[in-house]
Amino acid sequence: MPSPPPSIFTRIINGEIPCHKVYEDDKVLAFLDINPLAPGHTLVIPKEPAPTLDKLSDVSAAAIGRILPRLCRAVMRATGTSDYNLLQNNGAAAHQEVMHVHFHIIPKPGGGGSQGLGIDWPAAKIDHTAGAQLASAIAAAV
Ligand code: AMP
Repeated sequence: MPSPPPSIFTRIINGEIPCHKVYEDDKVLAFLDINPLAPGHTLVIPKEPAPTLDKLSDVSAAAIGRILPRLCRAVMRATGTSDYNLLQNNGAAAHQEVMHVHFHIIPKPGGGGSQGLGIDWPAAKIDHTAGAQLASAIAAAV
């Protein structure tokens, strides 16, 4: 089967498409989102072309996990913001547009403005019987 065409993020990693780079090491690249929800909206991606987080190797996951807090601090320091969201979408139904793992660091400026991530959070009360079964099923699948 032919392999899928490289994602736009792989093309950025390869230098075929420009970006506003903020960090790079041998496993990770970070750059500004081209359609920011707030100034400083940054994308952090593995160089490994995994489409979703569940497909990412432990080595790349560790590299991203190691650098994420540092990048969050840098974005906050540079933008003068203290609040932010970390967003990571997987799959089209979950609003993923670029099928290459990425973490959004999205500053949330104070003052009640519209900048930053808006979240609709339709929470329900947990059903403890079903929850116990689900927790067991997930634990067994880890
Ligand atoms: P998602 O919906 O989680 O897949 O988000 C993909 C993000 O990639 C969006 O916020 C886009 O604005 C961003 N994006 C797409 N193309 C580029 C690009 N060439 N440079 C920077 N950000 C991009």
